[in-house]
Amino acid sequence: MAETQRLAALQDIDVMIRERKNEEELGFSTEGLETLEEARAKLAAEVDSRLLRLYERLAKRYDRAVVPVVEHRCVGCSMAVPTSKRKSGEDRRTKSVVTCESCGRILFFV
Ligand SMILES: [Zn+2]
Repeated sequence: MAETQRLAALQDIDVMIRERKNEEELGFSTEGLETLEEARAKLAAEVDSRLLRLYERLAKRYDRAVVPVVEHRCVGCSMAVPTSKRKSGEDRRTKSVVTCESCGRILFFV
């Protein structure tokens, strides 16, 4: 599940970058934005390129591309996650991460 954790961290950084950019539009200082972008680039380089592409695609579509599974359901779309996926912690298509069959978001288990 290490890849999922990396993607979740990447998402956290993306959220922060997005907030900074919004602040910039409002006329606030963007101090720290460069540091965030450096950290993002570093982290992105550690993620498998196929997964990174999947993440980028989802991030364009959804506010949150990586979501937790709560009470066996995807928090993004509320669909139940099959037991097989919950047990293995991975699925056949992506190998190292679990995606929601309904919305396609990357899932992590809490
Ligand atoms: Zn879903």
